[in-house]
Amino acid sequence: MTTLLIATRNAHKVGEISAILGEPFRYLTLDDYPSAPSVVEDATTFTGNATKKATELARWVGAAIPQPAFVLADDSGLEVDALAGAPGVHSARFAALDSGAAGNSPDADNNRKLLRLLQNIPAEKRTARFRCVLALVEAQSPKSKIQSLRLFSGACEGRIDFAPRGAGGFGYDPLFIPDGFTQSFAELGEDVKNRLSHRAQALAQLKAAL
Ligand code: IMP
Repeated sequence: MTTLLIATRNAHKVGEISAILGEPFRYLTLDDYPSAPSVVEDATTFTGNATKKATELARWVGAAIPQPAFVLADDSGLEVDALAGAPGVHSARFAALDSGAAGNSPDADNNRKLLRLLQNIPAEKRTARFRCVLALVEAQSPKSKIQSLRLFSGACEGRIDFAPRGAGGFGYDPLFIPDGFTQSFAELGEDVKNRLSHRAQALAQLKAAL
């Protein structure tokens, strides 16, 4: 069985990825490698950050993982048109950009900031999309060059509501209403989200490629 080391500690991302990809993999995450180095996500694009996370972890883990093995990194975020594409690559630490706090911000703080910035924006101008880029590399000897990078991407169009609704999902899900629906991702629940989402679209490409 192929091992898939998912380069995250975000249990929600792991849950969605393993639910969508299903049986054919043995899943590991950064929680299984507590001493893995933390990767500085300083690229200006989702592709850049996903590539960095996957390649650095693949080099670090090398062949010390049940083979055959791949490292999979997900870099994702929300782009809001009325905010010129923000929070974008800064989605996880949107609130902290103001406070200067280290690390990611609590989802509730990010959502509050988003609502504040959009308070005077009418419904028809609250268009937005989630984007996801997946980077997949073979986990192999640390000395060999990473030559196997494959990239997959997905986008899910929708709009930002005026207040959070629903208890499912994570991140901006309580504020995001996908096109064709009146409920937020957090209200629609995981089955619907995992059919429509940016992550589901990128994973469908990955599944087809493997
Ligand atoms: P990353 O872990 O650096 O890729 O940051 C991703 C951030 O984007 C998360 O912390 C969320 O704020 C946001 N995000 C990405 N995907 C989703 C999603 O499926 N639902 C809600 N928020 C998401």
